[in-house]
Amino acid sequence: MSVFEVLDPRFAAYVMGNAPVKRLATGFDWVEGPVWFGDAGCLLFSDIPNNRILRWTEEGVTSYRQPSNYANGHTRDREGRLISCEHGARRVTRTELDGSVTVIADHYRGKRLNSPNDVIVASDGAIWFSDPHYGIMTDYEGFRGDEELPCHVYRVDLDGTVEAVITDMACPNGLAFSPDETVLYVADTGRMFSADPQHILAFDMVSGRPGVGRLFHRIGPGCADGMRVDSDGNLWSSAGDGVHCLSAEGELLGKVLVPEVVSNLCFGGRAKHRLFITATTSLYAVVLNRRGMQRP
Ligand code: MG
Repeated sequence: MSVFEVLDPRFAAYVMGNAPVKRLATGFDWVEGPVWFGDAGCLLFSDIPNNRILRWTEEGVTSYRQPSNYANGHTRDREGRLISCEHGARRVTRTELDGSVTVIADHYRGKRLNSPNDVIVASDGAIWFSDPHYGIMTDYEGFRGDEELPCHVYRVDLDGTVEAVITDMACPNGLAFSPDETVLYVADTGRMFSADPQHILAFDMVSGRPGVGRLFHRIGPGCADGMRVDSDGNLWSSAGDGVHCLSAEGELLGKVLVPEVVSNLCFGGRAKHRLFITATTSLYAVVLNRRGMQRP
């Protein structure tokens, strides 16, 4: 049985029918936040409940950082440095090239952030992150604590200014820019223990800030958590049954079927055409016929 479900003829050009979805490693609890370091030939990803960041290479998996402050999403900035969301310390950090850690954001207007979840860097160097409450609702993925702020999306300028740029979502989670950065996609996974709608919103950018959000797509089964864009502008989203490929118009083109619930994904590999997928207890990868926008 193919691991690809082609729902639109356009999707056939994106996949290679005989490419397997390989399980690269397993035995984790809830993996998230994959980020590719092509220059180091490795992938970093979080195993959140076990409070660690792991490093995958072709030789296997080793520990990168433990404790990790229950780190979740990661990305790299324009200089290639690791940017991380930490539930446990309720902050976003940058790991410098010498290994020291710099705090990018941990407060907004004098109040502590909730539990930063996912993060992207724009071409101007600004850092955008989501701050839902999942990491402080229980002691499973961080430390139970009080919610001092609503669940916003923030932008951190190069000068360190933190600005709430989306303030009307229930629980913003995964983030992605379109290739030309004219559209920002944000997944809303809804508040825990609620019946909030779960969907992806698209925000047309106006003078460098998100305008009014519009419904882009509702993933099913499951919901959208982490997302990435390919070089053609398609949005690849996590879902309950794998990874869904959505056109820039929000149409479902096809699926990569994965046997566990997917949390997040990133492009990597020699030609940035290998999709790494974090899914519940395992790390998977599949080679596609498209390149991701992810740097470097
Ligand atoms: Mg997430």
